Amino acid sequence: MHSAFHKTDVDVIDIPSTPGGIPIFEIGTLASRATGPEDWQPLSNLDGETGDIIYARFIIDFAVDELKRMAYGRMTHNAGHHLSGDKCVNILVRQEGCGRSTFEKARGNFRRACDTCIRTKRLCVQIGVIDSSIKLCVMPLPEAYREGKALDSIAAWVMEG
Ligand SMILES: [Zn+2]
Repeated sequence: MHSAFHKTDVDVIDIPSTPGGIPIFEIGTLASRATGPEDWQPLSNLDGETGDIIYARFIIDFAVDELKRMAYGRMTHNAGHHLSGDKCVNILVRQEGCGRSTFEKARGNFRRACDTCIRTKRLCVQIGVIDSSIKLCVMPLPEAYREGKALDSIAAWVMEG
């Protein structure tokens, strides 16, 4: 088991001044299986330290200081408006909602990191409904941008990670 996995949910991002608190969204990723489609899996299902590494990067990118936590909190309260997948968490939290996720570098594969996250070197996290609850899904870089690294390396998730 992973020592840090009580932190898998975003409940550590607690802003007492925010009325109603911040909804907790489970964070997962698309884990490719030997056969069949890629499926959402909680970070805790990933092999080895991969989940911890991705989670640590999530905190750095979106919750490491008060300003980011405030922006993240605002995003969570409006998450229902962002289920179409055209704005990832990076755009909502770090770009003040300006821009849309495009997937030219991924050759149109929207189950990969978006162009904005590749350019800004941040984790691409999409918001979606899985098993009838809102969840976050961390998208891997397009294969061509992983520098040959496997998914257990942060370099497969964040540019120059
Ligand atoms: Zn993105």
